[in-house]
Amino acid sequence: MTTSETVTNEALSADALPPPQEIVPAAGGRGALYRLRTPMSSTALPWVMPYAFVPETEEGVTLFDAGYGTPDATEAMTRQLADLGRTPADVRRLIVSHFHPDHVGMTGWLQEQNPDLELVMHRHDAEVYRDMDRGHASWEQTMREWGVRHGFDAADLEQAEEERRERRAREAAQAAGDANGEHDTAKVTEQRQWEMRRVEPARLVDDGEEIAFDGWTLTSTWTPGHTPGHLCIYIPDERLTFTGDHVLSRITPNVSYHPEDEETDRNPLAEFLASLQKTADLDTRLALPAHEELIPDLPARCRDIIEHHHHRADEVIAGIGEDPRGATAFEIASRVTWNRPWETFSVWKRRSAIGETLSHLRLVETQGRVRRVGDGVVRWLRA
Ligand SMILES: [Zn+2]
Repeated sequence: MTTSETVTNEALSADALPPPQEIVPAAGGRGALYRLRTPMSSTALPWVMPYAFVPETEEGVTLFDAGYGTPDATEAMTRQLADLGRTPADVRRLIVSHFHPDHVGMTGWLQEQNPDLELVMHRHDAEVYRDMDRGHASWEQTMREWGVRHGFDAADLEQAEEERRERRAREAAQAAGDANGEHDTAKVTEQRQWEMRRVEPARLVDDGEEIAFDGWTLTSTWTPGHTPGHLCIYIPDERLTFTGDHVLSRITPNVSYHPEDEETDRNPLAEFLASLQKTADLDTRLALPAHEELIPDLPARCRDIIEHHHHRADEVIAGIGEDPRGATAFEIASRVTWNRPWETFSVWKRRSAIGETLSHLRLVETQGRVRRVGDGVVRWLRA
């Protein structure tokens, strides 16, 4: 899940799939590494880029990230594995960068093809992944209270929730065979059924662990920020770094301050900036992100993103304005620049923008540059 710039959607026809791209050729009994692609039909990003370690022997394939659980994505995976002389049943191990469905969504389907599939993820993201079916009612209430605390109009949020509940009920009715459905949301729900299926991770990793198989030695690199347990993978022998969504070539990942971060005093943007520095310090000849283009100069890209967030933090402070009572995160978010005009944002897009604005406010609060006032509705003042 990413924001900040819109990337034009490419044609998603499976016929347009290029063959897998060889990143490292097979050598000395160790297999080759390929870059695949699976389609993302519902966002501004056209593709997820899984990476496949394909041994020369009969041993199974290891993937880093997979894709959504939609038929388009599983078909793309099947065709590209066939190009490599393999089938989905040959996938023995799936390491995921984080718990978002464009990375982990295909896991249930892969396990159906191979019951021995091993899922590997960071322990913090595993907690969220297991808990993703949490009660929606209490989650909605938490998010509504959080929104109001940060300046949302309660009536706007309630109306948007009501509309969403109606839409979900419609989808459920359609999925249950209601022939009167006027559009294809039921199909969408059905297409995403694999994403609902949880696979218990076979291995939970922390920072700096070795993951070894088929002559490869990978090092887990914990990079919290986009998610609490985001994982990059470093291959010292090859000086390659898999960056997941942590570092992409053009856009920057969403880093939000959520209700649970308020409770635990987390500072997600500070974590993200520290993770960027940590990633920049890896001796990398080529970075392999989960979307967009390969990154030849990873330290330079990390520095650009760090700088972008420092500028953004200054802009957010300026957005507080001159009112002696301060400004809410909602007001501040409405005053900073986004990729589209604020007026065109849906309630949900605004909520996500407020999460990003709050992550910047939280960062500069810990630097003593702003302070919050008020206990019902939170307002921000320059310190
Ligand atoms: Zn992603």
